[in-house]
Amino acid sequence: MPTESNNSGGGNVRVVVRVRGFLPREIERGAANLIEMDPRNQSTTLHPPPPDSAKANARKVMDKKVFTFDNSFWSFNRHDDHYADQDDVYDALGEEFLDHNFEGYHTCIFAYGQTGAGKSYSMMGTPEHPGLIPRTCRDLFERIESNNSPSVNYSVRVSYFEVYNEHVRDLLVPRRDPPYYLKVRESPTEGPYIKDLTEVPVRGIAEVLKWMKMGDNSRTVASTRMNDTSSRSHAVFTLVLKQIHHDIDTDETTERVARIRLVDLAGSERANSTGATGARLREGSNINKSLTTLGRVIAALADDPPQKRGGRKKEVVPYRDSILTWLLKDSLGGNSKTAMIACISPSDYDETLSTLRYADQAK
Ligand code: ADP
Repeated sequence: MPTESNNSGGGNVRVVVRVRGFLPREIERGAANLIEMDPRNQSTTLHPPPPDSAKANARKVMDKKVFTFDNSFWSFNRHDDHYADQDDVYDALGEEFLDHNFEGYHTCIFAYGQTGAGKSYSMMGTPEHPGLIPRTCRDLFERIESNNSPSVNYSVRVSYFEVYNEHVRDLLVPRRDPPYYLKVRESPTEGPYIKDLTEVPVRGIAEVLKWMKMGDNSRTVASTRMNDTSSRSHAVFTLVLKQIHHDIDTDETTERVARIRLVDLAGSERANSTGATGARLREGSNINKSLTTLGRVIAALADDPPQKRGGRKKEVVPYRDSILTWLLKDSLGGNSKTAMIACISPSDYDETLSTLRYADQAK
């Protein structure tokens, strides 16, 4: 059996795969399920399309491919529905990452995959099935409320920006035409940052969701006007959790700041600019550059976790090779935890194979 996978990477990097269920249009055309997951060893198997399908006949011979990840999301609690639901994903990732934030460290979760594979569903979800972002917010404020002690003061701020064609746009300000891009600067103490990015204080989940919706609208307006820009930009939603601890005995205060980054990446199919010219070619190659760099950064961190470094010289992590990785430098590596959720659809051999290979190389 051809196995493409190596073993999984370092402790602070997680690479997981989530397959979504069939959409009505896929059921209508009788699309075959090509994905099999085994929760015992977290493997994902991609099967070739059935031989009677026109696509399979017209194409080269396709093999069965097997990969192993930190999680292959599959729900084994339910007999009737074997697809992992939003609870499964939050329980396996979100909760642990939030623990890390309360300890004062940064975290970053990326959703990768082709358009329609379930990135937004995994990150934002729907009102009936909220995804990682609303669940993280709910849990965050619940923990703040239950931790309430006079010696700790909490505050939370949010920002939301998108990276399009290696430019940064603030999603929390009204959209301008032509778009207004923010400058990326570097501080000697804080590292790279976005100059003048809006960061608003929030006191509860309702306020966070209000800002998030405003940012999403700004992205959607752009997408209808400019032909689906949202799948061509990376959207970075950030919650900043600040804790000020006051030691009553010594009268000393200590401050902990943690950034919670939740990133909906550009559709991975956009990286393929075959046949494109001009602006579309530049856009495709920028998406390709940022997704490739991100994969290399995560792979370098997984190969070289801080606890394994000892006295060895650090591997050079190519943060600078794209705006996205450069901006997220503080949330990747060091004591930060990073996760990549590779989203796949159940019946698309070529795109799924490319997503699984990307995720496998990022481990
Ligand atoms: P993307 O953001 O990758 O373009 P979406 O998240 O918009 O994809 O998903 C495409 C469609 O599939 C949406 O209608 C979404 O509600 C549905 N969907 C995606 N993932 C799941 C899932 N795990 N379970 C149920 N429906 C899903």
